[in-house]
Amino acid sequence: MAALNEGNLAARLLALRNAIADACTQAGRDAQAVRLVAVSKRHEAAAVRTVLQLGQRDFGENYAQELRDKSAALAAEADALGVAPRWHFIGPLQRNKVPLVVGRAALIHSVDSLPLASAISARVQHLRKALPGLVQNCLIQVNIAQEPQKSGCDPDALPTLLDAIAAAGGTLFCLGLMCLPPQQDDPEASRCHFRRLRELLHSAARQKRPHVELRELSMGMSHDFQVAIREGATILRVGTALFGARL
Ligand SMILES: *Cc1c(COP(=O)(O)O)cnc(C)c1O
Repeated sequence: MAALNEGNLAARLLALRNAIADACTQAGRDAQAVRLVAVSKRHEAAAVRTVLQLGQRDFGENYAQELRDKSAALAAEADALGVAPRWHFIGPLQRNKVPLVVGRAALIHSVDSLPLASAISARVQHLRKALPGLVQNCLIQVNIAQEPQKSGCDPDALPTLLDAIAAAGGTLFCLGLMCLPPQQDDPEASRCHFRRLRELLHSAARQKRPHVELRELSMGMSHDFQVAIREGATILRVGTALFGARL
């Protein structure tokens, strides 16, 4: 866990917001149409609290236990803080960890298989005994460069997965797509993958399905969010540029 420096966090959040606003202006886009998810994985709950008090609402985690523990830590003080964080689950999700995440995450970015979608659906059904209207919002993670070993559904498998969500009786609601392009130093290397994800979203959106409304593109991290904004990202997932290096 990295050491906390509140002054640094305030300065970095401001710089990040300015950089996002500048990139939106350059792309001719409304800054309101781009949401920042502050990726707090492997940073302490105290850092989340500080950034929350600076006005940031959306936080991303990619380990199920960490999401559970941090959301519990901050829920205990939500009343005192007067504001609650909105949690995003952005990491690979094992089926046995589904109970830790469903109902806690406002948005799961990493649905990538039929078995995972049905495990989430089953968990929602179970929780509905106590929470009747519960719906789990999600994105489909696409393995956009078709890298072996990488999470995400194959682009060709997307329609089948969307059909399954449409058939899940409204337990899941799919809002869009997410990708994690191949790791490269040059942010321009991500551009073709971001563009491909946008095209995939638009072509999949032509077929109307219940419980599916494809409008979100979760793409862009610390090193390539400007390129992602240019290519139509609506959700950025930024960790290092805000919280600093992870230990
Ligand atoms: C860690 C992580 C991020 C944030 O990466 P940074 O380079 O620290 O901005 C974004 N998306 C996913 C899926 C991650 O796991």
